[in-house]
Amino acid sequence: MNISIIGTGYVGLVSGACFAELGNNVICCDNDNKKITSLKKGIIPIFEPGLEELAIANTKKKRLKFTSSIKEAVLASEVIFIAVGTPSSENGEADLTGIENVVRNIAINMKKYRLIVEKSTVPVETGKWVKHTLSTYINHKVKFDVASNPEFLREGQAINDFMHPDRIVIGVESKKAADILAGLYKPLHAPLVITDIKSAELIKHASNSLLATKISFINAVARICDIVGADIIEVAEGLGLDKRIGEAFLDAGIGYGGSCFPKDLDAFINISEKLGYDFQLLKAVREINKEQKAFFVKKIKDTLWILKDKTIGVLGLSFKPNTDDIRNAPSIDIIKALQQEGANIRVYDPQAMEKAKGLLDKVKFCQDSYDACRNSDCLLIVTEWDEFKELDFSKIKKLLKRPIIIDGRNIYDPRKMEKLGFTYIGIGRRQAPKK
Ligand code: NAD
Repeated sequence: MNISIIGTGYVGLVSGACFAELGNNVICCDNDNKKITSLKKGIIPIFEPGLEELAIANTKKKRLKFTSSIKEAVLASEVIFIAVGTPSSENGEADLTGIENVVRNIAINMKKYRLIVEKSTVPVETGKWVKHTLSTYINHKVKFDVASNPEFLREGQAINDFMHPDRIVIGVESKKAADILAGLYKPLHAPLVITDIKSAELIKHASNSLLATKISFINAVARICDIVGADIIEVAEGLGLDKRIGEAFLDAGIGYGGSCFPKDLDAFINISEKLGYDFQLLKAVREINKEQKAFFVKKIKDTLWILKDKTIGVLGLSFKPNTDDIRNAPSIDIIKALQQEGANIRVYDPQAMEKAKGLLDKVKFCQDSYDACRNSDCLLIVTEWDEFKELDFSKIKKLLKRPIIIDGRNIYDPRKMEKLGFTYIGIGRRQAPKK
């Protein structure tokens, strides 16, 4: 099939490279000229495991092309996916100006039947506006369909998620649109949920909100563990083995971040309010998440007392491992809060330091984990990169001023760390009995 993807970010580029790998002719289009120029030279602007190889291989086979001309993309493709960003406005509402702009440009350039697919995460009833805008701005009398096909890939494992999805959600109003999308995804052999556009839009918001709810729930239980001296890892295991609950997303920590959960929760709360429903449950989820970062900072203060002029080593900046994405990463708020107390920060992240340089001031970006520990009063774990799980702790003990680890991701065993001579503080972890 000839398809195009408008918006060549994490979702657009991964989807484009994967659709090309499945044998389609794909044009990835973006209004960021610099990005398109780099991509044409084989320079991939984001870190995502396996993406560079896939994009370059398919570009060489001429199945994947890049353009900044939306006209070129619309003329060449029967199916047009919209994958531009849908960030939060100040009031939490999804900012859909990017979507509207793209839809208008598609309408102006359409000369034949086109299927326009929302892949970006959008509030329920966006499809209605997409149809309305296409009808208003269309230049030639041509037929079109609108569909919703939300994306569920996770950064850090995006290619595997795209190629092996749990399900593919397709919201349509015509059999023709359903057949085209079902045909496009056929090689993936994944369960298809074919529904109406509004239900498809809601599936995405509901699914991200439910995952965020699980995280806030376990974080709230971890707070109780801290108070009574129980262990959240064992509590989560006991909960998660119940098949009705499941083990995923029961990792207590410093809360969720990233470009999706915070903004999608805000957008879902906002659209619900507009539709006349006060989604109190999600407001509580959001509040617990916010508190979790403050709670982590409090743990640091409870351990070091005064932070002024203390040096704090930080491992991890990206909002989760295997990505360089720092959008809404808890690390940024935590580091800024510590700086406000007068602490000096030494930080290391395997991939996200370049991007973080634009957001953080007066921070020492270190060469590796050990460098971040050098002369620090304590070490914080903020992102659970695999390489942080395999550090040489005798070396770390020598480098730190005091052997204190405050682990915001619960990646170490408290008993082992205490045996190694560290004061170890996790989130909701049982401390070894005091001798
Ligand atoms: P992104 O910011 O990485 O990419 C968006 C791209 O769209 C950018 O390259 C930007 O230059 C381009 N763009 C913006 N306006 C444009 C326009 N008018 N014309 C052409 N290009 C334009 O965003 P992302 O993370 O890929 O997310 C895109 C959408 O997918 C969002 O709605 C997001 O919620 C959703 N989503 C993201 C993920 C994820 O893990 N990142 C997962 C599922 C769904």
